Amino acid sequence: MAAPKTQGAVAGLEEQDLESCSGVAGVDCEESNSKDCILEPLSLPESPGGTTTLDGSASVPCIFCEEHFPVAEQDKLLKHMIIEHKLVIADVKLVVDFQRYILYWKKRFTEQPITDFCSVIRINSTAPLEEQDNYFLLCDVLPEDRILREELQKQRLKEILEQQQQERNDTNFHGICMFCNEEFVGNRSVLLNHMAREHAFNIGLPDNIVNCSEFLCMLQKKLDNLQCLYCEKNFRDKNTLRDHMRKKQHRRINPKNREYDRFYVINYLKEAYPELWWKSLL
Ligand SMILES: [Zn+2]
Ligand SMILES: [Zn+2]
Ligand SMILES: [Zn+2]
Repeated sequence: MAAPKTQGAVAGLEEQDLESCSGVAGVDCEESNSKDCILEPLSLPESPGGTTTLDGSASVPCIFCEEHFPVAEQDKLLKHMIIEHKLVIADVKLVVDFQRYILYWKKRFTEQPITDFCSVIRINSTAPLEEQDNYFLLCDVLPEDRILREELQKQRLKEILEQQQQERNDTNFHGICMFCNEEFVGNRSVLLNHMAREHAFNIGLPDNIVNCSEFLCMLQKKLDNLQCLYCEKNFRDKNTLRDHMRKKQHRRINPKNREYDRFYVINYLKEAYPELWWKSLL
């Protein structure tokens, strides 16, 4: 999950001619490396739910116009901004809070011209002038963008740690063992420890897990759909699945399933502090 810095890699834009504009990407390199060039600390949008549609689901506005798109359809917004406004955002998959990211830039773009922030990519640079097209590239070569991306990661880590703390102290947890149907109330660790001890089902230490109820719900759903948690094969009935998981020692989760990453606090730490994480391995 550590974010590789593939600066300026924009899929589908070949024959690009990167041209630095007034004081952005590449020009003030030495200056860019120091934090002095950021005149004031970034102020992140307070509430991620800055805009809400009528049905209550969150939406994200276009940076340039009044169009809105549901958060879940961020690709549509990105496409809209490329086609209508010629803006390309690099490595957008690595932005951990897309809504806050967009709201931040929407505000900044009203304050300063786009060329203060974006590099210009000239498409078709060898073609006659009238066939050439300029696109604007927003990417983390720009110190302000890089810091914004890092701040969003740290902000998310903070929220995750708060959530983890709350779950750690919560004594109102209520859950049912997915193997023997025994009911547990109190702290989530009681159920997790029971499953580890009684059924050799170990998903990690309770304190390393976040959004535990959601995690268990997801696992329960898979079992309800008669799917083995480890090999993810489907079975015709409950008993066959139960026997299979016991006999084959498949009472564990598939470590390759990336769906589970977001339930482990370590992944948020790695993301927010990649440099610290790598150091700890040496
Ligand atoms: Zn627009
Ligand atoms: Zn049990
Ligand atoms: Zn299996």
